[in-house]
Amino acid sequence: MRNDPLLKLYYRLPLAGRTLAASARGLYLRSWRYGADTDQLVEDAINRESWSAKSWENWQGDQLALVLRRAALQVPHYREMWATRRRNGDTASFEELANWPILEKETLRQNPSCFVADDCNPRRMFREHTSGTSAKPLELWWSRSTVRQWYAIFEARSRRWYGVSRHDRWGIFGGQLVTQIEQRQPPFWVWNAGLNQLYLSTYHLAPDLIPAYLDALSSYRITYLVGYTSALYALALEALRLERNDIQLKVIITNAEPLFDYQRKTIAEAFRCSVHQTYGMAELVGGAGECSFGNLHCWPEVGIIEVDATNTSDGPNVGDFICTGLLNADMPLIRYRVGDRGSLSNESCACGRTLPIMRSLQGRIDDVLYTTDGRPIGRLDPVFKGNLHIREAQIIQETLKQIRVRFVRAPGYSPQSANSLVRELKKRLGPVEVVLEEVTKVPRTANGKFRAVVCNLPTGLLMQIGNGGNPSRPR
Ligand SMILES: [Zn+2]
Repeated sequence: MRNDPLLKLYYRLPLAGRTLAASARGLYLRSWRYGADTDQLVEDAINRESWSAKSWENWQGDQLALVLRRAALQVPHYREMWATRRRNGDTASFEELANWPILEKETLRQNPSCFVADDCNPRRMFREHTSGTSAKPLELWWSRSTVRQWYAIFEARSRRWYGVSRHDRWGIFGGQLVTQIEQRQPPFWVWNAGLNQLYLSTYHLAPDLIPAYLDALSSYRITYLVGYTSALYALALEALRLERNDIQLKVIITNAEPLFDYQRKTIAEAFRCSVHQTYGMAELVGGAGECSFGNLHCWPEVGIIEVDATNTSDGPNVGDFICTGLLNADMPLIRYRVGDRGSLSNESCACGRTLPIMRSLQGRIDDVLYTTDGRPIGRLDPVFKGNLHIREAQIIQETLKQIRVRFVRAPGYSPQSANSLVRELKKRLGPVEVVLEEVTKVPRTANGKFRAVVCNLPTGLLMQIGNGGNPSRPR
């Protein structure tokens, strides 16, 4: 549905047609994610939660050896790197993780297919897209066993921990454009029978439209929700204001954005259930989920996390996560700077699980922007999906009616690229004025961080439109 002609076709369908299209997509995804082995994979993941540190060390060591060998011998990017090092007289062993250089996101973004093992056919793999903090999309390929393992771990360590399963009726707030942005009549959702899932638009959460969403949760008998924190928070604020006591969920699982305490409290109060965050990324090099004691436990099967704490301005032991993926040996990413910061802890948890604890997870703290009628739009990075020939871009909101986009052109840039960007922004933000500002470099923050989205709306206005607690204001 990310492809424009297909999306247009989908929009022209009557409601039943959309349900059918979404369900067909759901069946396709289900066939990749789950199979006859899923229940066993879930049980195995649960059993590993009580492993000793020694068992994990051995298990990760064995996996790592396989991944490093395969990367050095069968993955073009790495094979060429080692060949060059050998020619220069470097005798370091590829069997030692410390001998591998850090892989920056930009290197992967420039030539992602060089990271696929040469005995794999990317067309037979599951293709994933992400854009994150830079404008060019990142392409990734997952093998079938990788997809199965990842979803089994999510099933075990997210759903199972909270007493729900993929077979329950659930709702999700994600980045898909479920319906046109200008639409102000429900439905703002589509039922996906393939995944037993109600896919809800994150782009229509204006206060006056939220009652319809709440009715839908009730009429579709949704038992738990997954999705962007900003969307769930907007929904919760309005449910509380309207004193809607008719919706009781079993759990709410947040992803993609940080979960702040004030958001957790509001969401929990509105839906009378616990709220838990998860950590993961399309590159599949690390993962974590929160237990009922509020600790974020790492998923060691997914990857090895090193913390580059050379810059200690953020506190002791806090640094960039440098991750080595263990789940996808067909597209191995080794010592990859994933773009998040945090620290790891040796403390044990009262829940009894021995999975290591992740602390002070930072990063991915992008600002939220607002439509003219006050809908929060949490993640705008999908507007960069599709190759726009833009090196980097920053979206800045100065008033409710105007968005400024600073961008740096890349080879191949044309006015069509700019038009496409404006169109994608308007699809999500509605009838705003988009001002394009070409620059040679997008300015970084005082501590050198890139911010993809910046909200400069005055605090008073944010209070008015119901998000006085926006974490980014004031800093
Ligand atoms: Zn725990």
